[in-house]
Amino acid sequence: MSTPESGDRIPAAVRTEALEQLLTERGLIDPDALDRIITTYETNVGPLNGAKVVARAWTDPEYRQRLLAEGTAAIRELGFGGRQGEHIVVVENTATTHNVVVCSLCSCYPWPVLGLPPSWYKDPAYRSRVVKEPREVLAEMGLELDDDVQITVHDSSSEVRWFVLPERPPGTEDLTEEQLVRLVTRDAMVGVAKARAL
Ligand code: FE
Repeated sequence: MSTPESGDRIPAAVRTEALEQLLTERGLIDPDALDRIITTYETNVGPLNGAKVVARAWTDPEYRQRLLAEGTAAIRELGFGGRQGEHIVVVENTATTHNVVVCSLCSCYPWPVLGLPPSWYKDPAYRSRVVKEPREVLAEMGLELDDDVQITVHDSSSEVRWFVLPERPPGTEDLTEEQLVRLVTRDAMVGVAKARAL
């Protein structure tokens, strides 16, 4: 005899599928529309959008000001917006301050600029630990920060989705905006890595 499973022992994929089936049966969602949304964010929208935002901010000081003041509007200037990107707040990393983003409750993430979140972002270990011991978690992920660098952890939610403007790497003064785009990684825009010169 099997015992009743507690909810969190059932894999998320199975639960999601059951939920989708239920909502479809009740006529609340259209599975084709759902597939189109997933395909869009898996294949058409990805971190390249965010990289374009960052490269623009690195090369245009007025754009950078607008981005830090009104993230969602400045991002929309470059044509990126919509689902899961209604309220994006941008924070800037510098030599002395480092920002890192988590969703401690689930996996809130700014889809229009970063696409869908990577699996580690959804991992309960990352979500709980980075809040309590960010310096250690970042070091484990390959980012060693000096002790005098101030770290701030931002908790994304359905109300506010955080986006990190990484520090422009030294030695990139002569690069064009297009060349700079290639230096900006997804991880740098979540704050678990730095942008580096190639
Ligand atoms: Fe969330």
